[in-house]
Amino acid sequence: MNEINKHIEWKKLGFKFFPTKYMFVATCSDGEWKTTGCVPFGNIEISPAAGVLNYGQGLFEGLKAYSGRDGHVYLFRPQKNADRIHNGCKRLCIPPLPQDLFMEAVTEVTKANKEFIPPYQEDSVAQGALYLRPVVWGTGPVLGVAPAPSYTFVTYACPVGPYFRSGFESIKLKITENYHRAASGGTGGVKAIGNYCIGMMPAKMAKSEGFQEILYLDAKDNKHIEEVGAANFFCIKGNKLYTPALDGCILPGVTRNSILHLAKNEFAMDVHEGSISVDDIFDCDEAFASGTAAVITPIGSISYQDKEIVMNNNEPGPISKKIYQKLLDIQHGIAEDKYNWRY
Ligand code: PMP
Repeated sequence: MNEINKHIEWKKLGFKFFPTKYMFVATCSDGEWKTTGCVPFGNIEISPAAGVLNYGQGLFEGLKAYSGRDGHVYLFRPQKNADRIHNGCKRLCIPPLPQDLFMEAVTEVTKANKEFIPPYQEDSVAQGALYLRPVVWGTGPVLGVAPAPSYTFVTYACPVGPYFRSGFESIKLKITENYHRAASGGTGGVKAIGNYCIGMMPAKMAKSEGFQEILYLDAKDNKHIEEVGAANFFCIKGNKLYTPALDGCILPGVTRNSILHLAKNEFAMDVHEGSISVDDIFDCDEAFASGTAAVITPIGSISYQDKEIVMNNNEPGPISKKIYQKLLDIQHGIAEDKYNWRY
């Protein structure tokens, strides 16, 4: 153990910014990406006229490096994040970030900051990780609304604690009919930075009323379920697993894709991607949110208008638990990596 990680209290880490030693940098002008490589983590200098500061031209990713039981450090399906940011760049008129550059960034930044990777814990639910944050910005100056003349890609890392401090717990959600996170033809299907600040005010209101998050409906009919804040939505009835289809308003979550795969191939569930109306969830057995941060977060209740929909007596359901454990075991090098998801 070296000087730095001797001082980190791994068990006290939350999901908070925590500076590490190195960040990976690449830049692009004239459409061509050039790698700088790992440099000491620090502030960057940017023009006040930068595209990202004036018009929000930027995208980010989020993935984790896990300490495995076998002593290896694993990234979970990072190629999916590389594809997602590449596609997102096209939507925001950013020169598409090459997938191999993304892979180099996440690999190099993990290696350079290896003393910040939380150690393996026997209880995989209590496990922390090194969260990697790749982000690409239009950094060149622009005055009229147009793509920036140059771009910067940075990947930094922060050690984070386990999502569930006191075991697998259910959350309480509120459906809002007044706010939406995405509209058809918009940017809901990519990780545009501008998608996130618009949810802060509704989330703050929901939290002040005792809910953990907002469950968003579609902007057109105000009746189909879309996402849980910044996580995908799933519900279960009998042996059927349902999640909203990727219609352009839903972020194609890496965890979402993995859950659909496991449910079908490991647990022989009948998997449906389609539209889910609020009425459909009244009689479901279990529901959960999914994402890199929480893997699977069980939903205990959903408030809608003057009604409250309670799932599985407010307790995490057995199928959600089973899928959760399977994913954790694959991520931490415990279960067999049948699908080549560990990197
Ligand atoms: N939806 C939104 C809007 C998100 O920001 C995220 C987090 N990236 C997710 C879903 C879950 O995606 P993933 O499983 O890739 O973390």
